[in-house]
Amino acid sequence: MNLTGRSALVTGAGRGIGRAIAVALAKAGADVAINYAGNEAAAKETETLCAECGVKTLVIKADVSNAEDCRAMIDQVKDTFGKIDILVNNAGITKDKLMIGMSEADFMDVINTNLKGSFLCMQMVSKLMIKQRYGRIINLSSVVGLHGNAGQVNYAASKAGVIGMTKSAAKELASRNITVNAVAPGMIDTDMTAVISDKAKEAMLSSIPAGRAGKPEDVANVVAFLASEEAAYMTGQVVSVDGGMGV
Ligand code: NAP
Repeated sequence: MNLTGRSALVTGAGRGIGRAIAVALAKAGADVAINYAGNEAAAKETETLCAECGVKTLVIKADVSNAEDCRAMIDQVKDTFGKIDILVNNAGITKDKLMIGMSEADFMDVINTNLKGSFLCMQMVSKLMIKQRYGRIINLSSVVGLHGNAGQVNYAASKAGVIGMTKSAAKELASRNITVNAVAPGMIDTDMTAVISDKAKEAMLSSIPAGRAGKPEDVANVVAFLASEEAAYMTGQVVSVDGGMGV
């Protein structure tokens, strides 16, 4: 895959899957804007890894659930790189609890970051992409958005919403040479899953035919393909990257 001359914005790229995606796009030759929420040190580490690939980089603090932050971030990426060819809506959070005990605030926080944040970035960036007559949008869903999970009604709703939004936007944008796809990772080793109890992890691992948790790079490689020229005729799809978990 060759992304030389392309410019990308990856939200939540300081750590975990987002970092691996930023590095994979940089390795393929794309200039990369690295968004983060609060952990500046991690975002700078991602920047170093991307810069080592010889591409232009930019680090931007922005809360994707805040429209003003998103506007300022997207303007900065456009001003620095001249365009945005690739948007990866990766920023995400969990606030797990069984439904009967879940607060309205915990429900809305997860929806606002995972679903509204993806909507805001996708809406703003697609306006640029329509003018460019080119774009690749990749949204991070989850195996939980496809199948549900006890303790995650907020997260499952946000990730199922991402799928509906992906398919709808794909239909709206296909004629403008813009593809919109989602990836649905299974259990991937990152800070997000580090908090899961050993017992729950063992139960999950036993449901993964591949017999192991995924690595952030397993997801990043698929995202890089979806961001490439080669994936031009693929839109509105949800690609599971889960070691067979959802089969
Ligand atoms: P992670 O390690 O917890 O990293 C999350 C990243 O998102 C961090 O860089 C964080 O920024 C950023 N972020 C959080 N809230 C944000 C906000 N409001 N605005 C901007 N950035 C924000 O998570 P991960 O495991 O890599 O997950 C990445 C994506 O994959 C998420 O959408 C997640 O739902 C999805 N996913 C993960 C798994 C898994 O097993 N790990 C499975 C399925 C789907 P800071 O570093 O500044 O805090």
